[in-house]
Amino acid sequence: MATDRFEAHDYYLMDVAEVGAFGPYIPTEYGGAGLDQISYGLIMQELERGDSGLRSTASVQSSLVMFPIFTYGTEEQKRKYLPKLAAGEMMGCFGLTEPDHGSNPSGMITNIKDKGDHYLLNGAKMWISNAPFADIAVVWAKDEAGDIRGLVVERGMEGFTTPETHGKWSLRASATGELVFANVKVPKENIFPTIKGLKGPLGCLNSARYGIAWGAIGAAMDCYDSALRYSKERIQFGKPIGGFQLTQKKLAEMITEITKAQLLTWRLGVLKNEHRATPAQISMAKRNNVNMALQIAREARQIHGGMGITGEYPIMRHMMNLESVITYEGTHDIHLLITGMDVTGINAFQ
Ligand SMILES: Cc1cc2nc3c(=O)[nH]c(=O)nc-3n(C[C@H](O)[C@H](O)[C@H](O)COP(=O)(O)OP(=O)(O)OC[C@H]3O[C@@H](n4cnc5c(N)ncnc54)[C@H](O)[C@@H]3O)c2cc1C
Repeated sequence: MATDRFEAHDYYLMDVAEVGAFGPYIPTEYGGAGLDQISYGLIMQELERGDSGLRSTASVQSSLVMFPIFTYGTEEQKRKYLPKLAAGEMMGCFGLTEPDHGSNPSGMITNIKDKGDHYLLNGAKMWISNAPFADIAVVWAKDEAGDIRGLVVERGMEGFTTPETHGKWSLRASATGELVFANVKVPKENIFPTIKGLKGPLGCLNSARYGIAWGAIGAAMDCYDSALRYSKERIQFGKPIGGFQLTQKKLAEMITEITKAQLLTWRLGVLKNEHRATPAQISMAKRNNVNMALQIAREARQIHGGMGITGEYPIMRHMMNLESVITYEGTHDIHLLITGMDVTGINAFQ
């Protein structure tokens, strides 16, 4: 790992690698687990049942770092990076968002200039998960023709720094930072040779958003499980609060929404295995499931009464985490606009 500060991370990252959560669907010849998309989804669900930050680390490593190297990279890039990323010996991050370009990444100003034997990279990325400890960054930048290109930047390249973002009240188990490039010389062999335009990063986001749709179900399940347990133990007015119809309504609606979300993602997984899932379908699932999880966290908090606001129970942690999950990888409203455009054929973004 890159820094001593994240030694504690190292242990859990190795554990995550050991269960095959880094690049589950990457073929075994490159160190992945060679699993299908539904298996990938279930792994994300179970990681996020623990914490959205843990799932975020695995999502970034799998869908935003290993996926582009596997899909867009050269054979040399695949052999160099994928086995180490799968084993957790190397960690990666994904730089798309900039200080002035979040929902509209096509406006990015980070750029590369062709200098013969290398590219000169300048610019800055913000809100980058894993940045403070990542060994490599998949970075999206505009070339001199204005095309968005992807390249692998390695820690240690002169002019490349990764200051950490402090003061987060959400996703605290996932380190976030900036990527700053000041005249970084990136060897030509580090660029993805053929992919050009926004479809490069969007391809990665499709894979990550699919994983998030599953992951959010895990957070919802943990909130539901905790609320169900509490409702059977907490006695008020001489009986468990789970015996009151109002509490049962909350629990019944929670399990109904979780079941619907699981069916949505399972069907999406079937389509993804058949290479038939569309970006709009993935948007719909990400938007629906994260919002569903946030609503369930709020209802679960009510069932726990005052105890729900304490760290004795996981509810507030999930709720705060989900505030990031509903914003990153396309905000709740941006996914609504994607669905709106899909059904009407009219772009309401601009
Ligand atoms: C914890 C965390 C981790 C992250 N990790 C990564 C990462 O690893 N890599 C990476 O590249 N990025 C990452 N991001 C960035 C994330 O993807 C962006 O925050 C997100 O895309 C939104 O961009 P923004 O924050 O600039 O908000 P903005 O784009 O400024 O949006 C602000 C508000 O305006 C709304 N809005 C914007 N445009 C429109 C429109 N056309 N119509 C209607 N409403 C609109 C949005 O819905 C939102 O409500 C992360 C963010 C967080 C919080």
